[in-house]
Amino acid sequence: MIRYRRVALIGLGLIASSISHAIRRTGAPVEVRGYARSGSTRAEAARLGLGTIFETAGEAVEGADLVILCVPVGAMASVAAEIAPHLAAGATISDVGSVKRAVIDAVAPHLPDGVHFVPGHPLAGTEHSGPGSGFATLFDNRWCLLTPLPGSAPAVVEALEEFWRALGARVDCMDADHHDLVLAVTSHVPHLIAYTMVGVADHVRRVTEQEVINYSAAGFRDFTRIAASDPTMWRDVFLNNREATLDILGRFTEELFALQRAIRLGDGEHLHAYFTRTRAIRRGIIDAGQDTAAPDFGRLSRG
Ligand code: NAP
Repeated sequence: MIRYRRVALIGLGLIASSISHAIRRTGAPVEVRGYARSGSTRAEAARLGLGTIFETAGEAVEGADLVILCVPVGAMASVAAEIAPHLAAGATISDVGSVKRAVIDAVAPHLPDGVHFVPGHPLAGTEHSGPGSGFATLFDNRWCLLTPLPGSAPAVVEALEEFWRALGARVDCMDADHHDLVLAVTSHVPHLIAYTMVGVADHVRRVTEQEVINYSAAGFRDFTRIAASDPTMWRDVFLNNREATLDILGRFTEELFALQRAIRLGDGEHLHAYFTRTRAIRRGIIDAGQDTAAPDFGRLSRG
Protein backbone atom coordinates (compact mmCIF):
# COMPACT_ATOMS: atom_id res chain seq x y z
CA MET A 1 0.00 0.00 0.00
CA ILE A 2 1.22 3.50 -0.78
CA ARG A 3 0.43 5.98 1.98
CA TYR A 4 1.82 8.99 0.13
CA ARG A 5 -0.41 11.16 -2.01
CA ARG A 6 2.18 13.39 -3.70
CA VAL A 7 5.60 12.00 -4.59
CA ALA A 8 8.34 14.26 -6.00
CA LEU A 9 11.24 12.75 -7.95
CA ILE A 10 14.31 14.95 -8.22
CA GLY A 11 16.43 13.75 -11.14
CA LEU A 12 14.59 11.90 -13.89
CA GLY A 13 16.87 9.11 -15.07
CA LEU A 14 16.60 5.33 -15.09
CA ILE A 15 15.69 4.97 -11.41
CA ALA A 16 13.23 7.88 -11.13
CA SER A 17 11.53 6.86 -14.35
CA SER A 18 11.19 3.27 -13.10
CA ILE A 19 9.75 4.54 -9.79
CA SER A 20 7.17 6.56 -11.71
CA HIS A 21 6.19 3.59 -13.91
CA ALA A 22 6.05 1.29 -10.88
CA ILE A 23 3.83 3.74 -8.95
CA ARG A 24 1.49 3.92 -11.93
CA ARG A 25 1.39 0.10 -12.06
CA THR A 26 0.05 -0.04 -8.48
CA GLY A 27 -3.02 1.95 -9.53
CA ALA A 28 -2.77 3.96 -6.28
CA PRO A 29 -4.05 7.55 -6.43
CA VAL A 30 -0.59 9.13 -6.21
CA GLU A 31 0.36 12.40 -7.87
CA VAL A 32 3.91 12.12 -9.27
CA ARG A 33 5.90 15.33 -9.77
CA GLY A 34 9.36 15.56 -11.24
CA TYR A 35 12.31 17.79 -11.93
CA ALA A 36 15.54 17.33 -13.89
CA ARG A 37 18.21 19.94 -14.44
CA SER A 38 18.27 19.87 -18.26
CA GLY A 39 15.38 20.98 -20.43
CA SER A 40 15.84 18.01 -22.75
CA THR A 41 15.43 15.50 -19.90
CA ARG A 42 12.38 17.39 -18.58
CA ALA A 43 10.84 17.38 -22.06
CA GLU A 44 11.47 13.65 -22.50
CA ALA A 45 10.06 12.88 -19.05
CA ALA A 46 6.93 14.89 -19.85
CA ARG A 47 6.56 13.13 -23.22
CA LEU A 48 6.88 9.75 -21.48
CA GLY A 49 4.15 10.76 -19.03
CA LEU A 50 6.34 10.27 -15.95
CA GLY A 51 4.35 12.88 -14.03
CA THR A 52 3.92 16.63 -13.83
CA ILE A 53 7.32 18.08 -14.67
CA PHE A 54 8.49 21.37 -13.19
CA GLU A 55 11.16 23.90 -14.19
CA THR A 56 12.64 24.04 -10.69
CA ALA A 57 13.26 21.47 -7.98
CA GLY A 58 11.61 23.79 -5.45
CA GLU A 59 8.30 23.80 -7.33
CA ALA A 60 8.42 20.02 -7.79
CA VAL A 61 8.61 19.33 -4.03
CA GLU A 62 5.86 21.79 -3.01
CA GLY A 63 3.34 19.91 -0.86
CA ALA A 64 4.97 16.51 -1.50
CA ASP A 65 4.73 14.02 1.36
CA LEU A 66 7.54 11.94 -0.18
CA VAL A 67 10.55 13.40 -1.98
CA ILE A 68 13.09 11.02 -3.54
CA LEU A 69 16.46 12.33 -4.69
CA CYS A 70 17.37 10.37 -7.84
CA VAL A 71 20.55 12.19 -8.93
CA PRO A 72 24.17 10.96 -8.89
CA VAL A 73 25.67 10.77 -5.41
CA GLY A 74 27.92 13.79 -6.03
CA ALA A 75 24.89 15.97 -6.82
CA MET A 76 22.88 15.09 -3.68
CA ALA A 77 24.16 18.02 -1.58
CA SER A 78 23.29 20.69 -4.12
CA VAL A 79 19.78 19.38 -4.81
CA ALA A 80 19.14 19.01 -1.06
CA ALA A 81 20.12 22.67 -0.58
CA GLU A 82 17.88 23.67 -3.49
CA ILE A 83 14.74 21.90 -2.23
CA ALA A 84 15.21 22.57 1.50
CA PRO A 85 13.25 25.85 1.71
CA HIS A 86 10.33 24.35 -0.23
CA LEU A 87 9.79 21.12 1.73
CA ALA A 88 6.42 20.55 3.39
CA ALA A 89 6.41 20.02 7.16
CA GLY A 90 6.25 16.32 7.96
CA ALA A 91 7.51 15.25 4.53
CA THR A 92 9.71 12.19 4.15
CA ILE A 93 12.92 12.80 2.19
CA SER A 94 14.66 9.77 0.73
CA ASP A 95 17.14 9.03 -2.01
CA VAL A 96 18.27 6.14 -4.20
CA GLY A 97 22.03 6.78 -4.13
CA SER A 98 24.33 3.78 -4.41
CA VAL A 99 26.39 4.97 -1.42
CA LYS A 100 24.77 5.79 1.90
CA ARG A 101 27.16 7.34 4.44
CA ALA A 102 28.38 10.06 2.06
CA VAL A 103 24.79 10.85 1.02
CA ILE A 104 23.74 11.21 4.66
CA ASP A 105 26.66 13.56 5.30
CA ALA A 106 25.82 15.54 2.15
CA VAL A 107 22.05 15.81 2.56
CA ALA A 108 21.22 15.87 6.28
CA PRO A 109 22.83 19.25 7.08
CA HIS A 110 20.61 21.00 4.51
CA LEU A 111 17.27 19.63 5.69
CA PRO A 112 15.03 21.76 7.92
CA ASP A 113 13.56 20.58 11.20
CA GLY A 114 10.21 18.88 10.86
CA VAL A 115 11.02 16.68 7.86
CA HIS A 116 12.11 13.03 8.05
CA PHE A 117 15.19 11.83 6.21
CA VAL A 118 15.22 8.08 5.45
CA PRO A 119 18.02 7.20 3.01
CA GLY A 120 17.47 4.29 0.64
CA HIS A 121 19.05 2.28 -2.16
CA PRO A 122 17.15 -0.01 -4.50
CA LEU A 123 19.51 -2.77 -5.64
CA ALA A 124 18.18 -2.71 -9.14
CA GLY A 125 19.45 -1.13 -12.29
CA THR A 126 20.74 -1.64 -15.77
CA GLU A 127 23.65 -0.21 -17.73
CA HIS A 128 21.24 2.25 -19.39
CA SER A 129 20.45 5.73 -18.19
CA GLY A 130 17.99 8.54 -18.81
CA PRO A 131 14.19 8.74 -18.48
CA GLY A 132 13.55 6.51 -21.52
CA SER A 133 15.38 3.57 -19.95
CA GLY A 134 13.02 3.11 -16.99
CA PHE A 135 10.41 0.36 -16.70
CA ALA A 136 7.75 -0.66 -14.18
CA THR A 137 9.18 -4.07 -13.28
CA LEU A 138 12.72 -2.91 -12.45
CA PHE A 139 12.29 -3.36 -8.70
CA ASP A 140 10.34 -6.63 -8.77
CA ASN A 141 11.85 -9.10 -6.32
CA ARG A 142 14.93 -6.86 -5.90
CA TRP A 143 16.08 -5.63 -2.53
CA CYS A 144 15.69 -2.04 -1.46
CA LEU A 145 17.96 -1.24 1.47
CA LEU A 146 16.96 1.56 3.83
CA THR A 147 19.50 3.05 6.22
CA PRO A 148 17.39 5.04 8.71
CA LEU A 149 19.22 7.46 10.98
CA PRO A 150 19.25 6.71 14.69
CA GLY A 151 16.05 8.07 16.20
CA SER A 152 13.96 7.87 13.02
CA ALA A 153 10.27 7.46 13.83
CA PRO A 154 9.33 3.81 13.18
CA ALA A 155 6.04 4.81 11.50
CA VAL A 156 7.92 6.99 9.01
CA VAL A 157 10.33 4.18 8.11
CA GLU A 158 7.44 1.72 7.88
CA ALA A 159 5.58 3.92 5.39
CA LEU A 160 8.67 4.02 3.16
CA GLU A 161 9.11 0.26 3.48
CA GLU A 162 5.50 -0.20 2.38
CA PHE A 163 6.07 2.14 -0.55
CA TRP A 164 8.98 0.06 -1.86
CA ARG A 165 7.07 -3.18 -1.32
CA ALA A 166 4.19 -1.76 -3.34
CA LEU A 167 6.71 -1.14 -6.13
CA GLY A 168 7.65 -4.84 -6.07
CA ALA A 169 10.80 -4.70 -3.95
CA ARG A 170 11.84 -6.59 -0.86
CA VAL A 171 12.98 -4.28 1.89
CA ASP A 172 15.66 -4.47 4.53
CA CYS A 173 17.06 -1.90 6.95
CA MET A 174 20.71 -1.62 7.95
CA ASP A 175 23.35 0.77 9.16
CA ALA A 176 24.77 3.07 6.45
CA ASP A 177 28.41 2.00 6.94
CA HIS A 178 27.43 -1.66 6.77
CA HIS A 179 25.52 -0.94 3.55
CA ASP A 180 28.60 0.67 2.02
CA LEU A 181 30.78 -2.32 2.85
CA VAL A 182 28.25 -4.85 1.53
CA LEU A 183 27.84 -2.88 -1.69
CA ALA A 184 31.58 -2.53 -2.13
CA VAL A 185 31.69 -6.35 -2.26
CA THR A 186 28.56 -7.01 -4.31
CA SER A 187 28.58 -4.09 -6.72
CA HIS A 188 31.25 -1.42 -6.50
CA VAL A 189 34.44 -3.49 -6.75
CA PRO A 190 32.90 -5.83 -9.38
CA HIS A 191 32.18 -2.75 -11.49
CA LEU A 192 35.74 -1.55 -11.01
CA ILE A 193 37.05 -4.95 -12.11
CA ALA A 194 34.80 -4.89 -15.18
CA TYR A 195 35.97 -1.39 -16.09
CA THR A 196 39.58 -2.57 -15.68
CA MET A 197 39.14 -5.74 -17.75
CA VAL A 198 37.57 -3.85 -20.62
CA GLY A 199 40.36 -1.30 -20.35
CA VAL A 200 42.96 -4.10 -20.49
CA ALA A 201 41.36 -5.61 -23.61
CA ASP A 202 41.45 -2.18 -25.17
CA HIS A 203 45.17 -1.98 -24.51
CA VAL A 204 46.09 -5.45 -25.75
CA ARG A 205 46.86 -4.68 -29.33
CA ARG A 206 47.40 -8.34 -30.23
CA VAL A 207 43.66 -8.82 -29.77
CA THR A 208 42.10 -6.86 -32.56
CA GLU A 209 38.93 -4.92 -32.02
CA GLN A 210 37.08 -7.36 -34.25
CA GLU A 211 38.21 -10.37 -32.24
CA VAL A 212 37.14 -8.75 -28.98
CA ILE A 213 33.69 -8.15 -30.43
CA ASN A 214 33.27 -11.45 -32.28
CA TYR A 215 34.52 -13.79 -29.57
CA SER A 216 33.26 -11.94 -26.51
CA ALA A 217 30.63 -14.51 -25.44
CA ALA A 218 33.05 -16.40 -23.21
CA GLY A 219 32.85 -14.05 -20.22
CA PHE A 220 34.15 -10.79 -21.60
CA ARG A 221 30.72 -9.77 -22.87
CA ASP A 222 29.40 -9.58 -19.31
CA PHE A 223 32.26 -7.30 -18.35
CA THR A 224 31.49 -5.03 -21.31
CA ARG A 225 27.86 -4.73 -20.24
CA ILE A 226 28.82 -3.70 -16.72
CA ALA A 227 31.57 -1.40 -18.00
CA ALA A 228 29.00 0.42 -20.14
CA SER A 229 27.38 1.84 -16.97
CA ASP A 230 27.04 5.58 -16.57
CA PRO A 231 30.48 7.21 -16.04
CA THR A 232 29.18 10.05 -13.82
CA MET A 233 27.27 7.73 -11.52
CA TRP A 234 30.22 5.40 -11.10
CA ARG A 235 32.81 8.13 -10.68
CA ASP A 236 30.65 9.42 -7.81
CA VAL A 237 30.26 5.94 -6.29
CA PHE A 238 34.03 5.40 -6.04
CA LEU A 239 34.77 8.92 -4.81
CA ASN A 240 32.10 8.54 -2.13
CA ASN A 241 32.70 4.96 -1.01
CA ARG A 242 36.46 5.24 -0.93
CA GLU A 243 37.31 3.38 2.25
CA ALA A 244 35.15 0.30 1.69
CA THR A 245 36.18 0.11 -1.97
CA LEU A 246 39.88 0.27 -1.09
CA ASP A 247 39.40 -2.32 1.68
CA ILE A 248 37.71 -4.82 -0.64
CA LEU A 249 40.08 -4.02 -3.50
CA GLY A 250 43.01 -4.82 -1.20
CA ARG A 251 41.50 -8.22 -0.38
CA PHE A 252 40.77 -8.81 -4.06
CA THR A 253 44.39 -8.09 -4.98
CA GLU A 254 45.64 -10.55 -2.35
CA GLU A 255 43.36 -13.30 -3.69
CA LEU A 256 44.40 -12.51 -7.24
CA PHE A 257 48.06 -12.84 -6.31
CA ALA A 258 47.32 -16.19 -4.64
CA LEU A 259 45.64 -17.43 -7.84
CA GLN A 260 48.50 -16.03 -9.92
CA ARG A 261 50.94 -17.96 -7.75
CA ALA A 262 48.87 -21.17 -8.06
CA ILE A 263 48.91 -20.85 -11.83
CA ARG A 264 52.67 -20.20 -11.84
CA LEU A 265 53.31 -23.23 -9.58
CA GLY A 266 50.86 -25.44 -11.48
CA ASP A 267 48.83 -25.89 -8.27
CA GLY A 268 45.67 -27.31 -9.84
CA GLU A 269 44.33 -28.42 -6.48
CA HIS A 270 44.26 -24.84 -5.23
CA LEU A 271 42.53 -23.61 -8.38
CA HIS A 272 39.96 -26.41 -8.34
CA ALA A 273 39.10 -25.92 -4.66
CA TYR A 274 38.78 -22.15 -5.19
CA PHE A 275 36.51 -22.48 -8.22
CA THR A 276 34.38 -25.08 -6.42
CA ARG A 277 33.75 -22.57 -3.61
CA THR A 278 32.85 -19.76 -6.02
CA ARG A 279 30.47 -22.00 -7.96
CA ALA A 280 28.55 -22.65 -4.72
CA ILE A 281 28.12 -18.89 -4.27
CA ARG A 282 26.52 -18.63 -7.71
CA ARG A 283 24.17 -21.48 -6.76
CA GLY A 284 23.21 -19.54 -3.62
CA ILE A 285 22.32 -16.42 -5.65
CA ILE A 286 20.08 -18.49 -7.94
CA ASP A 287 18.44 -20.26 -4.98
CA ALA A 288 17.72 -16.84 -3.43
CA GLY A 289 15.81 -15.89 -6.60
CA GLN A 290 18.25 -13.11 -7.51
CA ASP A 291 19.26 -14.53 -10.91
CA THR A 292 18.28 -17.12 -13.47
CA ALA A 293 19.69 -20.64 -13.59
CA ALA A 294 19.34 -20.67 -17.38
CA PRO A 295 22.65 -21.09 -19.20
CA ASP A 296 24.29 -17.77 -20.15
CA PHE A 297 21.61 -15.83 -18.22
CA GLY A 298 19.00 -17.20 -20.63
CA ARG A 299 20.54 -15.58 -23.68
CA LEU A 300 20.94 -17.47 -26.91
CA SER A 301 24.64 -18.20 -26.91
CA ARG A 302 26.53 -17.80 -30.17
CA GLY A 303 29.92 -18.59 -28.74
P1 NAP B 1 20.60 8.61 -14.72
O1 NAP B 1 19.69 7.76 -15.53
O2 NAP B 1 21.94 8.99 -15.29
O3 NAP B 1 19.84 9.96 -14.30
C1 NAP B 1 20.43 10.90 -13.47
C2 NAP B 1 19.53 12.11 -13.28
O4 NAP B 1 20.21 13.00 -12.41
C3 NAP B 1 19.23 12.86 -14.55
O5 NAP B 1 17.91 13.36 -14.51
C4 NAP B 1 20.22 14.02 -14.50
O6 NAP B 1 19.72 15.19 -15.11
C5 NAP B 1 20.32 14.29 -13.03
N1 NAP B 1 21.61 14.91 -12.68
C6 NAP B 1 22.84 14.47 -13.03
N2 NAP B 1 23.79 15.26 -12.51
C7 NAP B 1 23.13 16.25 -11.85
C8 NAP B 1 23.55 17.39 -11.13
N3 NAP B 1 24.87 17.67 -10.97
N4 NAP B 1 22.59 18.18 -10.58
C9 NAP B 1 21.29 17.89 -10.73
N5 NAP B 1 20.83 16.83 -11.41
C10 NAP B 1 21.74 16.02 -11.96
O7 NAP B 1 20.90 7.97 -13.30
P2 NAP B 1 20.22 6.74 -12.54
O8 NAP B 1 20.79 5.48 -13.06
O9 NAP B 1 18.76 6.93 -12.48
O10 NAP B 1 20.88 6.96 -11.09
C11 NAP B 1 20.35 7.89 -10.17
C12 NAP B 1 20.82 7.51 -8.77
O11 NAP B 1 20.42 6.17 -8.52
C13 NAP B 1 22.32 7.58 -8.54
O12 NAP B 1 22.58 8.15 -7.29
C14 NAP B 1 22.76 6.13 -8.56
O13 NAP B 1 23.87 5.93 -7.70
C15 NAP B 1 21.52 5.42 -8.04
N6 NAP B 1 21.32 4.05 -8.51
C16 NAP B 1 21.57 3.72 -9.80
C17 NAP B 1 21.40 2.41 -10.20
C18 NAP B 1 21.70 1.99 -11.63
O14 NAP B 1 21.97 0.82 -11.89
N7 NAP B 1 21.66 2.88 -12.58
C19 NAP B 1 20.92 1.44 -9.30
C20 NAP B 1 20.60 1.84 -8.00
C21 NAP B 1 20.83 3.14 -7.61
P3 NAP B 1 19.95 15.52 -16.66
O15 NAP B 1 19.41 14.37 -17.43
O16 NAP B 1 19.15 16.74 -16.84
O17 NAP B 1 21.42 15.69 -16.83
